[in-house]
Amino acid sequence: MVSCKLFYTFVSRTNTFLSVETKYIFVTGGVVSSLGKGIISSSLARLLLSRGYSVTIQKFDPYINIDPGTLNPYEHGECYVTIDGHEADLDLGHYERFTDIKTTRANNFTTGRIYQSVIDKERRGDYLGKTVQIVPHITDEIKRDIKSLGNTGKYDFVITEIGGTVGDIESTPFLEAVRQLKWEMGRKAVSLHLTYVPYLKAAKELKTKPTQHSVKQLQSIGIQPDILILRTEKDIPYNMRRKVAQFCNVAPEAVIQSIDASSIYKVPQLMHEQHLDDLVLRLTDTESKGEPNHSAWNEFLRKLETSEKIVTIGLVGKYVELQDAYKSISESLMHCATYCDHKLNLIYIHSEKLTPENVDEKLSGMDGIVVAPGFGQRGIEGKFVALKWCREHDVPTFGICLGMQCMVIEYARNILGLTDANSTEMDPHTPYNVIDLMEEQKSVSNMGGTMRLGAYDCRLKERSVPAEAYGKEIVSERHRHRFEFNDEYRKRFEEAGLECVGENPETGLVEVVQVPSLTWYVGTQYHPEYQSTVLNPHPLFMSFVKAAIARNEEKNR
Ligand code: GLN
Repeated sequence: MVSCKLFYTFVSRTNTFLSVETKYIFVTGGVVSSLGKGIISSSLARLLLSRGYSVTIQKFDPYINIDPGTLNPYEHGECYVTIDGHEADLDLGHYERFTDIKTTRANNFTTGRIYQSVIDKERRGDYLGKTVQIVPHITDEIKRDIKSLGNTGKYDFVITEIGGTVGDIESTPFLEAVRQLKWEMGRKAVSLHLTYVPYLKAAKELKTKPTQHSVKQLQSIGIQPDILILRTEKDIPYNMRRKVAQFCNVAPEAVIQSIDASSIYKVPQLMHEQHLDDLVLRLTDTESKGEPNHSAWNEFLRKLETSEKIVTIGLVGKYVELQDAYKSISESLMHCATYCDHKLNLIYIHSEKLTPENVDEKLSGMDGIVVAPGFGQRGIEGKFVALKWCREHDVPTFGICLGMQCMVIEYARNILGLTDANSTEMDPHTPYNVIDLMEEQKSVSNMGGTMRLGAYDCRLKERSVPAEAYGKEIVSERHRHRFEFNDEYRKRFEEAGLECVGENPETGLVEVVQVPSLTWYVGTQYHPEYQSTVLNPHPLFMSFVKAAIARNEEKNR
């Protein structure tokens, strides 16, 4: 045992000496899911970034789907999209919002993708006739994917979040890969384990036993956590943390509590106060570059805490029961409201329940309306009802992706008089296919195969609302859709007052529409919500929220 430990120290010291160092932080979770590993990972990344290190975060999801693109939002919340067109877990949205780092497909893997890659290699004969097994072939593939970001030489730290909970059958290969990497990397790797400390009301006590069990389980896999973060609703007394430290072979100062906070954006500060960033630097033998510069972040938090005025935005969509389905939109609106010194009052409006009879009652209290993205027929008629009402009442209105397509359809039906106008997604036989597939897409049948995914340039028309908002002519925004504005109708729309104010400079595809006679009535084929961050709130959302605030002030004058 002793000699093994000496060897371990020797290997790790040697490693630290030799290489241009990328340090790896492995984040696992135990006891229950939904503890906020993504928020902890993002907060740690924020702290390290603020101290001047280059950082990236990746997530491994233990499910078999190749990516979350085909998952029902009820199952998994929003599908986030990276610049390179990867349909990703919504935690990548947190990573970007906290860090401003643009993620790619290298930041998100699933079990399905890893198996697919191994099976493809097996079919190509890459394994030279060997029996292909979970260990070492799947685990080697995982290790390769973990190291792929570090191998770019761009990052001081790679934070790797392992989805799921320790003890899940599905997580086992990932944890085995982490065990091996920790051994190989020595002090270049840190294991951070997040657990839950429940408060039993009847006994009036916090309970650490589940944490102890979870750590035991991790240790039985061969991973000794270096840092424990205990998620809790109540302050965990120092003695209790010491007890956890003792039971789990972790230094007392490395047992940190993550107490429920009123905003996820406070977590970096809460972690910093307990020296999480210092701890990581110390454990990885990384020289400190001084205290983090957090002034811009703290200014955002100050506004978040102190603003009293309220702006009320209605979000018309079909997934109102599950608000994670619109996570990036709600966060974008919140960032912008905060910068405008307002609290966001976001009202989810069920598009399936919206009718011409109740629309006035449901929407009249709103300062602005967002019509949500989506797929399929369900709830679509309610979106038309909302849009007609917004147009007729000149309420600031933002249509995103399907929301933009609905703007076009509603305008065709009620202004152009094309009664049965539709998208061919909803009605393949519509006489007026104002939204349609492009010719070249029509022969592709594979799910996802025809999607326009990832970042594309868009040229904005001078003096249009979006051009003024962005303050530039060419912007790059992310897409996730199959259907497009049908250019054959463009002239008729423009003559009737709906202008195409943004288009792809290469293909001419219409990306943004606006009704200039209204105060703020804009639809984007792209998803601006994927690019709004705490430190860089999105200009188009900002412009929309300002218009909503102006309307509110007008009403109250
Ligand atoms: N269903 C529409 C399309 O495929 C819009 C997609 C979306 O809103 N993301 O084009």
